[in-house]
Amino acid sequence: MAAAAQQTNSLVDKFGRRVDYIRLSVTDRCDFRCIYCMTEEMQFVPRKQVLTLEELYAVARAFTELGVRRIRLTGGEPLVRSNVMHLVERLGRLPGLDELLLTTNGNQLDKYAGPLQAAGVKRINISLDSLDAEKFRRISRVGKLDRVLAGIDAAIAAGFDRLRINSVVMRGYNEDEVLPLVEYALERDIDIAFIEEMPLGEASDHDRADTTCSNTWVRERIERRHELLDSAVKTAGPSRYAQVVGRKSRVGFISPVTHNFCADCNRVRVTVEGRLLLCLGNEHSMDLRAILRDDGKDFEDLKAAIVAAMDLKPERHYFFEKDHAQPVRLMNMTGG
Ligand code: SAM
Ligand code: SF4
Repeated sequence: MAAAAQQTNSLVDKFGRRVDYIRLSVTDRCDFRCIYCMTEEMQFVPRKQVLTLEELYAVARAFTELGVRRIRLTGGEPLVRSNVMHLVERLGRLPGLDELLLTTNGNQLDKYAGPLQAAGVKRINISLDSLDAEKFRRISRVGKLDRVLAGIDAAIAAGFDRLRINSVVMRGYNEDEVLPLVEYALERDIDIAFIEEMPLGEASDHDRADTTCSNTWVRERIERRHELLDSAVKTAGPSRYAQVVGRKSRVGFISPVTHNFCADCNRVRVTVEGRLLLCLGNEHSMDLRAILRDDGKDFEDLKAAIVAAMDLKPERHYFFEKDHAQPVRLMNMTGG
């Protein structure tokens, strides 16, 4: 029965978009406090409201039985969740799942890279916004650059299919780091993606309108030194890739602010409270935790709720559009 269900994808929204990718947040907590993501004094979700590892697994299984092929574990920082490897190992064996992926700040990757690879995680994205220890600390508020670099070295040594650096470029903070970060990726034959800062929640230290830096600007800067060839390869995520000519690395551009990619959206998010978020930039959601914790409801009810939720998926986000309310949810609550 389960095998038959796995062959079809029942997750299609009102606009004909097929959802085959979920980002599953395993915690809202983090060992960093990046200025674009969190406030300095974050209030985290009370533990009782956080999905247990068992509940997270049930959600993942329900989605794969409905046709989801890729799950990206995220947060908050996924590697601060206690016993996270127990969940990762189970997900690595989940029938029907083609790719188990992870996004991390890299702070604990020197310890986890080997076990993650052994558990079946295929690709990892590691956030790195600067190669200058001072700038790195200013952006992450508390992070130590050498810890992250050691984590990246460990991930390279562990032999993942592909590794990618994620960098959020902020005017006045790290726009001069674009080229050094590209060189760093090229030297290691890994990919790098530049992400435009999104207006998710209020940033406490800066006005996002002043810092958001367009990927058009980032690309121009890279092309002063490297030839980029747009790649025809379409990946599951929102990144548009360009090959660095003559090199193994690709440069990705995730440009939600300047290039709306909603028409191709194939993903939804589940927050650590079990809220199925249909869109990064809107509040449309379904409470899966209520179903998981209702004794009168079973696994089939969970799947039915997920299918029903597809009708709630909005057509697009409205970042920085004055006539529309901006999300109040911070990124660590959203699951990046
Ligand atoms: N802690 C992990 C990390 O930092 O990679 C995973 C979670 S984090 C929320 C996922 C990604 O979201 C990171 O690459 C981070 O840089 C990005 N991010 C966080 N807040 C953002 C914002 N306001 N705009 C754009 N990207 C953001
Ligand atoms: Fe933590 Fe990642 Fe948010 Fe930085 S971006 S505060 S590392 S969750």
